[in-house]
Amino acid sequence: MAEPIRVVTDSMMGLKLPDYARLSPRVATVLGHNPGPFTGPGTNTYIIGTSNRPILLDTGIGVAKWAELLPIGLKEMANADRPDRIVVTHAHQDHIGGVKDVTRIFGAIEVLKKPWPVAGPDNAAGVPITAIDDHATIGTDGATLQAVFTPGHAPDHLCYYLVEEKAVFTGDVILGAGTTVIPDETGNLGHYMDSLRRLLALDVETIYPAHGPVIRNAKQKIREYIGHRELRERQVLAALKDGPLEVPAIVKKIYTDVPEFLHKAAAMSMRAHLRKLRDEGQVVEDGENWRLK
Ligand SMILES: [Zn+2]
Repeated sequence: MAEPIRVVTDSMMGLKLPDYARLSPRVATVLGHNPGPFTGPGTNTYIIGTSNRPILLDTGIGVAKWAELLPIGLKEMANADRPDRIVVTHAHQDHIGGVKDVTRIFGAIEVLKKPWPVAGPDNAAGVPITAIDDHATIGTDGATLQAVFTPGHAPDHLCYYLVEEKAVFTGDVILGAGTTVIPDETGNLGHYMDSLRRLLALDVETIYPAHGPVIRNAKQKIREYIGHRELRERQVLAALKDGPLEVPAIVKKIYTDVPEFLHKAAAMSMRAHLRKLRDEGQVVEDGENWRLK
């Protein structure tokens, strides 16, 4: 039977989450308080483990309210005076920006991530990074994390599989609501689709996303994300059937039900699709126009 295919229509707009919360015996969260159309109520900082030596996963963008909440969350949720280590999903500012606050509050703490391919973004941590890669294992009491290389949204992106719960921390690869942005310069939709299929192949039941609420039907959500992009790809190819078009015209044809203020984001998504189709030899870029090959 064919998988149901639909466009992801929920969104981050108006979502509310508590300042901190316990999500399972070994996972709690503190809210980043950096709200926006693509970050929802803010980036989740996860507190992982069953003792007072928890791992911190992602650090928000570093706003004062979050920095105030973090020590309280650590004490309340894990009876911890400080985190044992920090792991980061990727070097976008709203995930790594708070490292300097953690260091200021608690002193030097080891920060682990896969390095960004060129110098620059990792410097936002303000401290040296311990380089890890695909398959790295990071453990603390009651929790074992395995790194899963998942590029596409960002070239350094690692998801982290939590063995004890058959759960995965998906960073920005899968969000609690809405869809992921594939940035023009550093994103790659082909890599992103491969990353989604990699997540689908895991023995996974729960998703802890970087933004928005926990997802308990993990496989269904991953299939929905894959189906969403496959549908968009068919729509792009169909839109070009009658001749060459510029990106804004393609957006207008496909995003008939999306308000104008989201068309800029839609255009970025269309360009990601067109670049993927171009790399696969299905469409040709001709100045501002795109046409079928
Ligand atoms: Zn990101």
